[in-house]
Amino acid sequence: MARATNHWTREARRRLPALRAWRADFHREPELSNRETRTREKVVRALASLGIPAQTFGNKFNGVVGLIESERAGPVVALRADMDALPILEETHVPFASRFDGTMHACGHDVHMACLLGAADVLMHNRGRLRGSVKLIFQPAEEEGNRGGALPLLERGVFEKPRVNFVLGQHVASEVPLGSVGWKKGALMASPDHFVIRVHGTPGHASTPHQGPDAVLTAAEIVTGLQAMVSRVRNPVDPVVVTVGTIHGGTRHNIIPQEVVLEGTVRTVDPKTKQRTEAWIRRRVRLLASSMGASASISYKHGYPVLVNDPAATQRVVDALGVELGKDRLVELKHPGMGAEDFARYLERVPGTFLRLGVRTPTMTASSHSATFLPAETALVIGTATLVAGTLALQGEGRG
Ligand SMILES: [Zn+2]
Ligand SMILES: [Zn+2]
Repeated sequence: MARATNHWTREARRRLPALRAWRADFHREPELSNRETRTREKVVRALASLGIPAQTFGNKFNGVVGLIESERAGPVVALRADMDALPILEETHVPFASRFDGTMHACGHDVHMACLLGAADVLMHNRGRLRGSVKLIFQPAEEEGNRGGALPLLERGVFEKPRVNFVLGQHVASEVPLGSVGWKKGALMASPDHFVIRVHGTPGHASTPHQGPDAVLTAAEIVTGLQAMVSRVRNPVDPVVVTVGTIHGGTRHNIIPQEVVLEGTVRTVDPKTKQRTEAWIRRRVRLLASSMGASASISYKHGYPVLVNDPAATQRVVDALGVELGKDRLVELKHPGMGAEDFARYLERVPGTFLRLGVRTPTMTASSHSATFLPAETALVIGTATLVAGTLALQGEGRG
């Protein structure tokens, strides 16, 4: 096996003091979704210190977009890091632990931002290698759920002037070993939809159920009927998760209530299946309710789309990472995860890939979104090198 060149890894390691300082600074002052004002100012200052102009969007939206211009007019690559933290009380006890009680960078977005700044620095010093410009997207509010920061950035023209041809992003991953990078072509992460079903029956005394449809019994039929869909209507190799998370109805043991409200989530990893599942749930809820003589209304909200990595772009990046890190540092992921990411919105518009930056160590017990989650420094170096090698690969370096 050919040995890894580790060229960009060495460049990244040389910048470890700066990577460490950026990460600690972000980590010490975490901010929740759509409140990333300090973080925004830090990013703007860091980009300025690297000689990179930054665009901001006023005080109501905390995105920052840096631009590294190339003299050549080749493919424009956008690199994206997310900026927001979580409402978690940190328990890591590191010197740079959160000084904002109850808020923590527990999803590694501090690492993502530091890596993007590190990659920006390396690319600025190697501008002669660029075949096109590079956009540096710092995106707020990834954790928001339905209304993340990607869509507002796209609406504000982040993919225009210059027009973006490829997009690349990464997220720390506790299922991938530290020092390695996880990749997958096609669907990587799920689309999470959210529904509220209101079941209407006839209220009455518990002793006279024959006087009208029972909303509680109808709700029970709907819960069971939705699971029958998952097990008997959906193709078992195309995963769908339907979870009813809450049931609310009734006031007393001897009263049949007028209404029962069910709330839940639907996860799919194929855009067509997402559409079909919604249609199926709407129809099935209506039929189940009417079969009980009751009626039901449903409100169905779409979450982030399925995150689909472009196969050709992924292959290019993986080939380059094989040369840079060594093939043994690449982990092909067999299955998509059922979590969600609004990086999917960028991939709906241009080809690209979203990578999983390994952080698992033999002693690590915490996963992301937990109070002791703390990726090791190696991830800063590998994440920086990955973005640099990936950018050059997407611009066509090594392909003549
Ligand atoms: Zn998260
Ligand atoms: Zn995250």
